[in-house]
This record gives sequence, C-alpha cells and structure tokens, in this order.
Amino acid sequence: MPESEIVDALTAVYGSDTRLSHVLAASRWSDATRQLERYRHGRILFAGDAAHIHPPLGGQGLNLGVQDALNLGWKLAATVHGWAPGDLLDTYQEERHPAAARVLHHTSAQRVLATPKLSEDVAALRGIFVDLLRLPDTNHYLAGMMSGLDAAGRVPDAELATGDGTTRLSALLRSGRGLLLDLTGDHPLPPGWSDRVDRVQAEPDHQLTESALLIRPDGYRCWAAGGGPLDAALTRWFGAPARDQHGSAADDAV
Ligand SMILES: Cc1cc2nc3c(=O)[nH]c(=O)nc-3n(C[C@H](O)[C@H](O)[C@H](O)COP(=O)(O)OP(=O)(O)OC[C@H]3O[C@@H](n4cnc5c(N)ncnc54)[C@H](O)[C@@H]3O)c2cc1C
Repeated sequence: MPESEIVDALTAVYGSDTRLSHVLAASRWSDATRQLERYRHGRILFAGDAAHIHPPLGGQGLNLGVQDALNLGWKLAATVHGWAPGDLLDTYQEERHPAAARVLHHTSAQRVLATPKLSEDVAALRGIFVDLLRLPDTNHYLAGMMSGLDAAGRVPDAELATGDGTTRLSALLRSGRGLLLDLTGDHPLPPGWSDRVDRVQAEPDHQLTESALLIRPDGYRCWAAGGGPLDAALTRWFGAPARDQHGSAADDAV
C-alpha cells in the first residue's frame, strides 16, 4: 500500500495539518459483507469468517467466531458421545445466525458513519451519533452489543463461594460439561445426568437472582428454579437420562 495513499486518507479524516512519521503496518480492506443462509449442510458446519464476514469496524469478527465455536463445540461433542437430543446441532443455526446478522447490521451502520468522504446528510447523522455516545446508557448499550456480552441468556461470570473455595463461573465451566448451580442447597441433580452435568453448591450471589440455574457448557442458562421441571430442561439440552441394567435412571453413570 503506497504511503501517499495513507497520507491522503489521514488528511481527509484529520485535516491538512496531519503529519505521518512512519508506517508500522498497513492493510487494505473493503466492505465484502455477506452471511451464509445456512450454517449447516448435512455433516458440514460453518463457523467464524467462513459463515459471515463484515468490515473490521469495531473489532467484532474474532469474538463472533469464537462464540460460534463455543456454541457449536459442546453440541458436536454431545453428538459424538451419543447423548445429544435429535435437534441439538440444528440449534446452532437458530442461535448463531441471528447473532451474526445483528453484527452485520451494526457494521453496515458504522461503515456509513465512518466513511472518510462525508456527505452533508451523513455528517449531520454522525454529529447526532457523537452526542448520543456521550450518554452512559448509549455507551453501555453499544458496548454490550459489540462485545456480545448482552446476549439473552448469557450468565454473568460471577465470583462464587463454594465448599472448595472461591471461584468464578467460567472456571466451573472449563470441564466442558453442563452445570447445575445450586445457590440454596435445595436443588439436587436428578439421577441419570451425572455423566454430563456437574452440580455445584455456592453461596447466593447478587448477580444471580434465582435459587438455582442449569447452565450449558457455553455459559448460557437453559433453566432457572421456578421455570418448570428440571428433568424436562435436562432432557431438552442434555438428552435422555442414562439407565442402569434394571432400566432405572443411573445414579453414577459414566
Ligand atoms: C484488516 C482487518 C482487521 C481486523 N481487525 C479485527 C479486530 O480488531 N478484532 C476482531 O475481533 N477481528 C478483526 N478482524 C476480523 C478477524 O481477523 C476475523 O474475524 C477472524 O480472524 C476470523 O477467524 P476465523 O478463524 O474464522 O478465520 P481465519 O482467521 O481466516 O482462519 C481461517 C484459517 O483457515 C486456513 N485455511 C483456509 N483454507 C484452508 C484449507 N483448505 N485447508 C486448511 N486451512 C485452510 C487459513 O489459512 C486460515 O489460517 C479483522 C479483519 C481484517 C481483515
């Protein structure tokens, strides 16, 4: 990329007083926004930039791809291990396609606002946007959206006091298993799921208002105490309970 081109671009954005001392790295990108309609074609699944690309505005691409991988990884493992409910893999498309569509929507708006050659209309829009960005609520909203941390159902990475000491929720999920987080001691794990789901008892935490949560390996809640039977949620996300040789739900299935 010729240096004169960089100088022209910087001058257009920051004014004629701008001086370029030296260039450490330069790359060219344009807007090639597109998204696959279907992330699954039989036994082939697409994630990351293979499924969606957008201009790098806001630095969201890597995070989006990592979250695809986290969503897909445990579902693939469940399928390989043979306990996945029939439609589990298809929930990858249902959950991740809208997440990327939202980012593409957002970067399309940023592309308009960040264009170096501003028309009068876009300059007015940018001015209003800059004003809005001074409001903490707007900042909070955009930061949540750009980081993906505002996703519905995502459980905050709370610090938890357990019988084995203080830990974070993310540390409890490192096993790649489901987690029944019991914050009152009243929620045992029904027999038949202990080969896929851990139960951890912890002190109540101000970030978690429910008395118990069932959390998927990717950190999303799939049940909360008071929201219907736990067995039904376990079966929905972790498949049928393991059975012993007498046909009863196995207590210590491996
Ligand atoms: C200029 C620019 C700046 C960016 N800045 C940011 C940023 O600040 N923050 C951010 O989050 N994101 C940023 N991104 C986006 C980010 O880089 C991508 O979203 C991310 O790298 C996608 O990761 P991926 O693993 O899906 O794909 P890739 O990183 O493209 O990895 C795919 C890999 O597969 C390999 N491969 C391809 N074909 C084959 C094959 N047939 N066999 C074997 N291997 C193969 C490729 O060589 C590559 O190593 C930026 C992108 C650009 C272009």
